Amino acid sequence: MIHPSNIPYLTHTWNPGGFGCSRGCATCWARKIPARMGRSCPCPDCREFKVHLHRERLLPENMKPARLPRVIGVQFTGELFDPQRPYPDIFKVLDAAWRLTSPPGVCGDTFVFLTQRPDIAADAIKEWMDARSRPSLPDRWWFGATIKGGDADQAACDLVNLLGIPSDNLWLSVEPIQGELPMDRVDESLAQLDPGRIRLLVIGADNNPAQPFDLAWVRSTVQSYRRGPLAKADLRAYLFVKQLWQWQCPNCERYFESRPADGERCTCGTSGLAFRKRLVKHACDFPPDLAVQNLPWPLPDKTGNSPRGPLRGDAEDAEVQ
Ligand code: SF4
Ligand SMILES: [Zn+2]
Ligand SMILES: [Zn+2]
Repeated sequence: MIHPSNIPYLTHTWNPGGFGCSRGCATCWARKIPARMGRSCPCPDCREFKVHLHRERLLPENMKPARLPRVIGVQFTGELFDPQRPYPDIFKVLDAAWRLTSPPGVCGDTFVFLTQRPDIAADAIKEWMDARSRPSLPDRWWFGATIKGGDADQAACDLVNLLGIPSDNLWLSVEPIQGELPMDRVDESLAQLDPGRIRLLVIGADNNPAQPFDLAWVRSTVQSYRRGPLAKADLRAYLFVKQLWQWQCPNCERYFESRPADGERCTCGTSGLAFRKRLVKHACDFPPDLAVQNLPWPLPDKTGNSPRGPLRGDAEDAEVQ
């Protein structure tokens, strides 16, 4: 029920709500998965992408503590804080995560939440804390909001809502990036809300090569993040550039930010016409100023069993990598 994940900033994912969300984003990748599986997906609600809860995925026998701590993404195949999801169901998910955060006798897991409805998240989480008489949230819980760029007003609104979550562990996912996000401007009004609590920016291109993508959007968003109060307010701000579209020479395999113009050649002599567009995920292949993959949470090695410990990363490190 808690599965290993390919998402580079997680080790596992846990989807107690299966596949389901009422938002209807045109570029939703999660909706396509049960549609592709057809009848081999046993849950009709998942197939129809309805908001629902798999209660069996909350049972202790299906949520055993691991020998080594995991970094678990919660409900990345839908929206936990969907307006159609009753609060008692959200509370059950938070209760189940709580049990694994500090289980007796073993290392606890880190839980990484991500939502497009930080307004509902803030309200539901505060109600859950009241209902369970919890004065604070666990240090190992991280709450993120997806902001796609291109709409600074919407981004400002989402940031205010995210800052309504009573946690010092907030993060932003700008993925897939759809335009510039001037982060040094959108947060001017946020000073009262302690924007330094937003401690991580994850940024990445859409998997689909047909979707518009411009490396300049990434560069300007990263630069504005480093210039703006989010990073300035607290040098603990981290940055993780997840994936970028670049052009690769098929001969020498070097990556370029853009395809050489007609008639131009790679330094190895290969014509620019032969170049291929590639989704690049390893920082060592990124342009040097964007080759930053720092996380605020310790990410155990996904392949071996030895924890790698905290990755490097304060704003100073990010500048020099
Ligand atoms: S909010 Fe997320 S899960 Fe829901 S439709 Fe949009 S992309 Fe899909
Ligand atoms: Zn289901
Ligand atoms: Zn070449």
